[in-house]
Amino acid sequence: MPSSNSGFQRLSQSALSRSRFLRLAAGALLPLVGLRPSAAAAPNPELAQNSGAPGTKHAAAPGRMGAILVSEFGPVKLHSYLSPTDGLQVNTQMIEGPTAVVIFDGQLLLPYADEVASYVQTLGKPVDRIILSHAHTDHWSGLQVLTERFPNARVFALDGVADQVRARGPARLDRLGRAYGDRAATMVTIPTETISEGLQRIDGVAYDFKRFVNAESDLQLAALLPEQKVLMAFDLVFSPNEHAFTGSNHFDHWMIVLESLKALQGYDTIIIGHDTPVGRSAIDSTMTYVKRAKEIRAASADAKSYSEKLKAAFPDLQQAGFVDLSASYLYAAPD
Ligand SMILES: [Zn+2]
Repeated sequence: MPSSNSGFQRLSQSALSRSRFLRLAAGALLPLVGLRPSAAAAPNPELAQNSGAPGTKHAAAPGRMGAILVSEFGPVKLHSYLSPTDGLQVNTQMIEGPTAVVIFDGQLLLPYADEVASYVQTLGKPVDRIILSHAHTDHWSGLQVLTERFPNARVFALDGVADQVRARGPARLDRLGRAYGDRAATMVTIPTETISEGLQRIDGVAYDFKRFVNAESDLQLAALLPEQKVLMAFDLVFSPNEHAFTGSNHFDHWMIVLESLKALQGYDTIIIGHDTPVGRSAIDSTMTYVKRAKEIRAASADAKSYSEKLKAAFPDLQQAGFVDLSASYLYAAPD
């Protein structure tokens, strides 16, 4: 199908142009990742040429802390909001169809969720629904803001996710509040609707929803968008530039899940839970990481040792905070 292919190519080109995206985002990320000012200030003639043309572009706004990447596929647009590093570079995806917007995931911190909500409002279409990809706090805590700002949007998740959020949410928010103060959510947002597996259309966009267990989290939604040739893998796949969260201790089964994603056809671009979109090779780099982390877990007696060895094994990766967080979960005393 030529129309969807051309849309994919536009997304793919930009998805692979990570350095370009980072330059675009540098205004927001500069204080946090230490990019040199010269890189941040570099003019971007490619963007200037692209602005106003269909395809993938960065939606800039003065004062915005996060970065937004927009990929256009005919009447369908994928808007990806990426939070700054202190928000764990969580992505919120906004799928804009002809008449409505579907939001996936809700940010870790309230100010970033607020930026998402403000951006969605500029699209001028109602929010059909909000879909939570999994029960980890960095993806649901900001739903507090989105459900306040879009009170008619119901929150969907796979069967079982609501129970996990309900059970673990209050303790997670306590921890979050100690770390982030008034930037952290104050209430647990529990999904009220169940999303079923399989192919369905929402506002004309086809989604093949898939359920995976015991990978990065106990229970994870993924969605193949066959017409856009995009796999929304969320935290099943991590960026080759970042550490992954390994705190759920599912190393072996996560590898099996990654093998199944490799075997799955019909996509070339992967939208991930943290950082900018990646190609299929990110499945391999995630497998390399998980395999090494498993070995280090087996050889480490405590959290400190696990953290140090894993950081030493991948010294160039960003988001080292994921390693410390993972270690604290892996080596926590059983309750
Ligand atoms: Zn995550």
